[in-house]
Amino acid sequence: MDIFEPYFKAGEIARKTRAFATSLIKSGVSVLDLCEKIEGFIKSQGGEPAFPCNICINEVAAHYTAEYMDSLRIPEQSIVKMDLGVHIDGFIVDTAITVALDEKYMLLKEAAEEALRKALKSIRASVSVYDIGETISKVASTYNLKPIRNLSGHEIARYNLHAGISIPNIPLQGGKFKLYGVYAVEPFITEHWASGTVIESTKPVIYRCLSYKKIRDTEANVLLKTLWSRFKGLPFAERWIHNMNLKCNVQNAWFKLKNSNLIKSYRPLVEISKGSVAQAEETILVVEDGVIELTGFPL
Ligand code: MN
Ligand code: MN
Repeated sequence: MDIFEPYFKAGEIARKTRAFATSLIKSGVSVLDLCEKIEGFIKSQGGEPAFPCNICINEVAAHYTAEYMDSLRIPEQSIVKMDLGVHIDGFIVDTAITVALDEKYMLLKEAAEEALRKALKSIRASVSVYDIGETISKVASTYNLKPIRNLSGHEIARYNLHAGISIPNIPLQGGKFKLYGVYAVEPFITEHWASGTVIESTKPVIYRCLSYKKIRDTEANVLLKTLWSRFKGLPFAERWIHNMNLKCNVQNAWFKLKNSNLIKSYRPLVEISKGSVAQAEETILVVEDGVIELTGFPL
C-alpha cells in the first residue's frame, strides 16, 4: 500500500481542513476570508490545494470560489456547500460538506449525507456506476427530494481531478469501479419541485491550463509557464494570479492568456429553477474487500 501513501497523507490533511472549515462557516462571514483561510490551512499542514476552495450558497451547486476583492458574505438562513481538494505531489483527494444555517435545509443536508453513506457501502471492484446512481436517486426520493442529474462524481488520477469514468447521481450507464482506482463520490440533492438540473451562470472564476507550449507573447508566456509549473492541469482561481509576483505585468499577461485556447474556464453551476442544493463528497480507494474512505467523512 506504500504507493498510496501520498493519498493517505492528503486524506488526513483534508479531514483536518474540513473540520477547521466547518467551524468557520457562519452567516455574515466573508467568502473571500473563508477561502483564503481554508487554502492557507491546507498549506500549513504540508499539502497544496488541488483546486480553489469552493463555497457555493443556496441554488449555486458547484464551481464558485471567491473572486479577487470579493465582497460576498454568507447570507443568513442559507445552505452552504464547502468543497475542498488537497494534493501531495499530484495525488488528489476531494471532499465536500453542507452546512445548513436554517432548520429548513436539514433534510437536504441529511439526504445528501445518507446518499453518500449508502453509495460508499455498495462500492467495490466491478460494481457498475449505474447501480450507484440508482442508490443515490432512491435515497433522494425516500426524502421526497431530487438528485441533480447533470452533476456527477469522478475518477481521480495524478494531477487529473476528473479522469476516467463519472459516477452519476441518477441511474446512467458508464462503466465499473476498478480495484485500486481512486474515485470522488458526490451526491447533489435539491428540492422535489426543482428541475434537478444545473446550468452555467455569470462569469468564470475558476480556470485551468490545458497544456503548456511556448507562445509568442513574452508576458503571456512567462505567466503560462508559471501556471503550468505550479498547477499542471489542476484548477486555479483568478484571485491567485493577482497575488503572484512575476517579472511581467501579470494583469496584461492574464488578459491575453485567459482567452487563449490553452486555458479552460469554469463558470459557477446553478440549479436552473433556483432549488436549494446540498452536497456530500468523499474520495475513496477501492481495495480487495471494499473501499478505504480517504478523508474519513463524518457519517
Ligand atoms: Mn469536490
Ligand atoms: Mn469532486
